[in-house]
Amino acid sequence: MYIIMLGAPGTGKGTIGKEITKKYNLTQFSTGDLFREEIKNGTELGIEADKYISEGKLVPDDITISMVESSLSKADNLLLDGFPRTIVQAERLKKILNENGKKVTVVIDLSVPDEDIIKRTASRVICSNRNCRASFNTIFMPPKQEGICDICGSKLIVRDDDKPETTKKRLEVYYKNTEPLIDYYKNEGLLEKIDINIYSPTTKEDTTNKAFSIIDSRI
Ligand code: AMP
Repeated sequence: MYIIMLGAPGTGKGTIGKEITKKYNLTQFSTGDLFREEIKNGTELGIEADKYISEGKLVPDDITISMVESSLSKADNLLLDGFPRTIVQAERLKKILNENGKKVTVVIDLSVPDEDIIKRTASRVICSNRNCRASFNTIFMPPKQEGICDICGSKLIVRDDDKPETTKKRLEVYYKNTEPLIDYYKNEGLLEKIDINIYSPTTKEDTTNKAFSIIDSRI
């Protein structure tokens, strides 16, 4: 099974994705986490990627694709969180899966109004433990103990690219490069949208349950 989480930054792809991976026994494959790990380790790839990430830009397709290509062709049962983010990446993913006799199961698009995205990212904190990476929100989904991860007890940290100025840039980049994937996957018959606003599901549980029923209807 290959599930793609689509959505602007801060819409909850990682958080809802984590619940989906637990229920369906998938591996969460987050290109953002992979890049952050490379940056932390000071690798050549990390140094190059950081030039783009710190400015809220996308890492170029050739760098991103070469980082994920071999894992994608080997792994099964993945939840893709943050990949693909461009049509070029989506085409490449389709080709890799086709070559291995596989295909995308469903694409879940989390749709949140822009004003809420800025608020959500400005108050987001993530677990510093790379094997956990749980995400909290100091306003909407606070941890039980301030600054400490509920799941593993590690320190919570703020992401460098969650500053409001960088979020605005990331949103611009999302609308230019990633939003076209909505029509792309609609045409492939794979898109399922979840609206997250005051009139529809707002809690993590509501959104998670909606995602579960979408997946159940597709498998
Ligand atoms: P995320 O944790 O998914 O929000 O990703 C953090 C940052 O990593 C993004 O703002 C991009 O700069 C970069 N990034 C993550 N995934 C991709 C991707 N598929 N293509 C290009 N850049 C990416």
